[in-house]
Amino acid sequence: MRYDVTVIGSGPGGYVAAIRCAQLGLSTAIIEKYNTLGGTCLNIGCIPSKALLDSSEHYHNAKDKFTEHGIDLSNLKVNMPQMIKRKNDVVDQTCKGVEFLMKKNKITIYTGHGSFVDANHISIAKADGTEETIETDKVIIATGSKPITPAAFNYDKNRVITSTEALNIDAVPKSMVIIGGGVIGLELGSVYARLGTEIHVVEYMDRILPTMDKDCAKELTRSMKKLGVKFHVKHMVTGVKANKKSVTVEVQKRDSEETFKLNTDYCLVAIGRRAYTDKLGLDKVGIGTDEKGRIEVDEHLQTKIPGIYAIGDVIKGAMLAHKAEEEGIFVAEVIKGQKPHIDYNLIPGVVYTWPEVAAVGKTEEQLKEAGIAYKAGKFPFKALGRARASMDTEGMVKVLADATTDEILGVHMVGPRTADMLSLIHI
Ligand code: FAD
Ligand code: NAD
Repeated sequence: MRYDVTVIGSGPGGYVAAIRCAQLGLSTAIIEKYNTLGGTCLNIGCIPSKALLDSSEHYHNAKDKFTEHGIDLSNLKVNMPQMIKRKNDVVDQTCKGVEFLMKKNKITIYTGHGSFVDANHISIAKADGTEETIETDKVIIATGSKPITPAAFNYDKNRVITSTEALNIDAVPKSMVIIGGGVIGLELGSVYARLGTEIHVVEYMDRILPTMDKDCAKELTRSMKKLGVKFHVKHMVTGVKANKKSVTVEVQKRDSEETFKLNTDYCLVAIGRRAYTDKLGLDKVGIGTDEKGRIEVDEHLQTKIPGIYAIGDVIKGAMLAHKAEEEGIFVAEVIKGQKPHIDYNLIPGVVYTWPEVAAVGKTEEQLKEAGIAYKAGKFPFKALGRARASMDTEGMVKVLADATTDEILGVHMVGPRTADMLSLIHI
């Protein structure tokens, strides 16, 4: 078989790239090593985590907020298997939707592990042990990322887990240590804290969400502490030992010799993700990776080999589904000879906790560092009658504007449904 374009990986980068290629009249194939399409985001990332965030928030509201609203409930309890089942149904439907889109756009799906034979031939190793090679004019690498699991943390998928396993725990744990106060730690930490798990977050930096605006991190810390989450910032984990039904986590204060141990049901490792290029045969085509294992690309997202492009988590930049999608469309249009453009400054970031954190543009820290004169306007939700009416008074909206031109440079929000508000902002 011969195609104009072959996409390796069917996550939000890959499947969107494939659809755009097909829309532009290119014969397109997509290769996915797992049986379901949709990649990390649909199977074990964005979608299942948001499903559990919504379910756990309903429980938390019913338990802790309804009485004040004048609604009395009794015998409230969590049915974890049903919560997981609903999550799985959502994932299932969403992945099937991608399969439908592939068929509708006449994109050929190959199930198996893709690897380069040379720049125009991709071999597909299938589960039954057979192999098939297809010929292609262009290739888009969209192989995504995997969790970082240092050897010292003894990741065993049982007691020492990553987000993948944390999305499938079938009984509410009594306690959990989360290594990393980033997006995954805070989202999945919220899920379990709402369900009653005692959560400890160990974060190496001096605050959670170190890459987001400082005020947002401060507000969210306050809200999550109210939820009962215990934060150990400026601390590091020096060792994790899995026992049969628990884990022992050794924690050390970052700038001292002070140590303590935490014994919990689970330890969730959430310290970031690494680009995934395992057994992709990059050496066969002479494509290297940078110090973080990411594929290097130019401004057209083309690797140093003409005709081979890379997008999404496997290259530099934010590891976000919508960034991968935008790059998928961009590359398809480049291949077709169009002149697309991506403004990376406009890629928003959302943490789906409650309150939600939603941001776009520069943070105050970045503006200070760049020496840009700016004005900051801040408004707390507790001063808003609408927020009081719904008991959603935590958080604030901060707008950063150029000191002389008033151009909006950044918007940083913590509050109810700020993710929805973010899409209304034009900067
Ligand atoms: P991926 O989605 O990782 O897809 C890559 C695909 O390639 C995989 O299916 C993989 O099996 C396949 N593959 C790899 N190598 C091969 C090969 N050699 N042959 C064949 N197939 C191969 N982002 C957001 O924007 N919003 C969120 O709310 C959000 N929540 C998240 C929650 C969690 C728990 C996690 C882990 C991530 C979350 N993300 C979120 C990040 C988001 O999932 C990623 O940024 C996104 O999936 C990247 O898309 P991608 O297409 O680059 O790669
Ligand atoms: P992250 O980069 O968001 O956070 C990792 C955190 O771990 C950081 O705060 C870092 O300082 C800390 N850390 C690193 N090493 C440590 C150590 N040894 N000990 C203690 N702390 C340590 O990574 P993540 O939370 O694993 O998420 C991975 C990726 O998935 C992110 O890039 C994120 O963009 C994406 N994601 C996005 C969403 C969303 O958009 N809502 C949700 C989940 C995941």
